[in-house]
Amino acid sequence: MLSIPASRPNAYTGSPLDRVSAQRDDEAFVAAALASPDALFIPVWRSRSLMKGVAEGTPEAVLLSAEAAGEVRMAGGPWALLGLWEGGRPVFTVDCSAAEDPLPLLPTGFGEFSDLRGVAGLLPAGEASMLAHARGLMHWRTRHRFCGVCGNPCEPRSAGNAMACTVCAAQHFPRTDPAVIMLVVRQGSVLLGHSTRFPTTTMYSTLAGFVEPGESLEEAVRREVMEETGVRVGRAWYHSSQPWPFPASIMLGFHAEGLSDEITIDPAELRDARWFTRAELRDHERLGFSLPRPDSIARRLIEDWLEAE
Ligand SMILES: [Zn+2]
Repeated sequence: MLSIPASRPNAYTGSPLDRVSAQRDDEAFVAAALASPDALFIPVWRSRSLMKGVAEGTPEAVLLSAEAAGEVRMAGGPWALLGLWEGGRPVFTVDCSAAEDPLPLLPTGFGEFSDLRGVAGLLPAGEASMLAHARGLMHWRTRHRFCGVCGNPCEPRSAGNAMACTVCAAQHFPRTDPAVIMLVVRQGSVLLGHSTRFPTTTMYSTLAGFVEPGESLEEAVRREVMEETGVRVGRAWYHSSQPWPFPASIMLGFHAEGLSDEITIDPAELRDARWFTRAELRDHERLGFSLPRPDSIARRLIEDWLEAE
C-alpha cells in the first residue's frame, strides 16, 4: 500500500487570491476593479516576473500600484484579472513583452525581471503562487491571439481569462497540460533516473511525462515508466499536485507499485536509471549523487516515502 499523504504544500500553491471566476463576466465589476485606487498589477515581461532581491538570495515579488503601473499598462499588452486579495484588493497581471527593455516603463528601484523557476523556493509561498498564475496566464494570452478553428483574430473575454474569435465566435480557454510524475517503489527500493535534460551530472530524480489524449493518469504513469525504463508498473496512488507554468503544465504526483526489476533505459530520455534503497537515498551526498531541489514535487515524493517507513 503506497498511499502516502503529502507532508506539506508544494511550491506554487497557496495563492491568497480569490479568483472570483463567477464575476469575471460582469463588465461593471471588472471596470470598477480596474479603476480602483487599491488595484495591484503583476507585470510579466517575456515570461519573466518582476522581483526584488534576486541577486541577494532574498527574492520578493513586486506588485505595482495603479499609479506605478501606469506606463506598463499604457504599453498595450494583454492583461487579466487574477482575483481579489486582502478583503477585496483587485490583482491584475499585465504583459509588457512588446517593450525591448521594460525597466524604463517602471519607476526606478522597482526590481528587475527574473525567471521565477530559479527562485520559487525562496519566495513566500503565496507570492510564488501569484507569480506562477500571472506567468502561466500571460504565456497563454501572448500565444493564442488567433483562432485555432478559423485563423482569425481573437479578443479577450472574462477579464482576460478567455478569448473569443471575432469571426466564428469560437471560445478559447487557458491551457494547463497534465503531466504525471511518479516514484516507483519495489521491495524497499525506488526507481530514479538521470535525465538527458538534467543540468547536473549527478542528479537522480523521479520519472515524469505528459498525459496523452484519451489516457487516464494511471495509464500515463504505467506507459511513461515502461517507455523510459522497461519496468512494469501496477497500481498508482495519487499524492499531490504542483502547478508548473513552465510554460503550461500541472504536475500530478504519484507513488506507484513496480512489478519488475530489470531496467532497460530509453537513451533518448535517460542517461541512467537505478533502484535506490532508503539507506542510499539518505546517504546520497557521501555516495556522490544528488536529489532534486527541495521545493520540487519530485523531492516531496521521495522524502514522504522515506518518512513513511
Ligand atoms: Zn474563429
